[in-house]
Amino acid sequence: MIYNFHAPLYKAEGTNKQLSSQRLNFFTTFARMSLYLASINSGSNGNCYYIGNREDAVLVDAGISCRETEQRLMRLGLSMNKIRAIFISHEHTDHTLGADVLSRKHKIPVYITPETYRSSKLSITPHLIRSFLAHETISIASLSVHPFPKEHDGVDSHSFTVSFDGVTAGVFTDIGAACPNVIHQLGRCHAAFLEANYDETMLETGRYPLFLKRRIRGGRGHLSNMQSLELFMSHAAPFLGLLILSHLSEQNNHPEIVHRLFTTHANGTRIAVASRYRETGVFYIGA
Ligand SMILES: [Zn+2]
Ligand SMILES: [Zn+2]
Repeated sequence: MIYNFHAPLYKAEGTNKQLSSQRLNFFTTFARMSLYLASINSGSNGNCYYIGNREDAVLVDAGISCRETEQRLMRLGLSMNKIRAIFISHEHTDHTLGADVLSRKHKIPVYITPETYRSSKLSITPHLIRSFLAHETISIASLSVHPFPKEHDGVDSHSFTVSFDGVTAGVFTDIGAACPNVIHQLGRCHAAFLEANYDETMLETGRYPLFLKRRIRGGRGHLSNMQSLELFMSHAAPFLGLLILSHLSEQNNHPEIVHRLFTTHANGTRIAVASRYRETGVFYIGA
């Protein structure tokens, strides 16, 4: 079950008289048992995904500035004080840019593998650095975070699912191929951020240099719209209620193309597209 307030969360917590009491009751009951999801930014210019519940949250990646992250969370009514950890998927700057400042300023631990940290430009306060191991679930307050390796050209790339109270959401971006880990983890999800990076014809005929085209589609780069659709149609669980298409290329894709393509095959799953320029609304996912 999904509920999406595009309005900021604080409006839903009773301060806004525009909400009918019926709607408010529904919201407060639903919010208590839900995972909250939002894309703070998505694309090669910066990635940051928020997953949490009423009490606790994590960020998956922190690829925009601290200041911009703070402003966007505030606009959504999401409190920085609930963020218990930042998980870093790999060292590419679009996933790491704001992590050290965000961590230092708000005293948030950063979960990052040693290899990824060594290859990044990050300078994290030592006592806030945490490591993780593939396939070993980590408890972050009331949330469970499960890291798993994927095919991407970072030194030690991982993706994550986050679970609470029987509900699981995953972040599946920067994926070169639908490897067994991605297939298995997507099949557990009630909601997912899934990469749909490029339209194959636009990339082929576009102005990117050949080496970059080869990198993107070479199996350790990014998923095309069609590869992403195939993954969704073949391996998403019947209970996947929300699919947020993510990490769209600016030059080789368009949100309308992605939205149309997936909506045609949605089969009951709600489809949204994350923006390269602004945050999405907050989505609430129940089991
Ligand atoms: Zn990326
Ligand atoms: Zn990357």
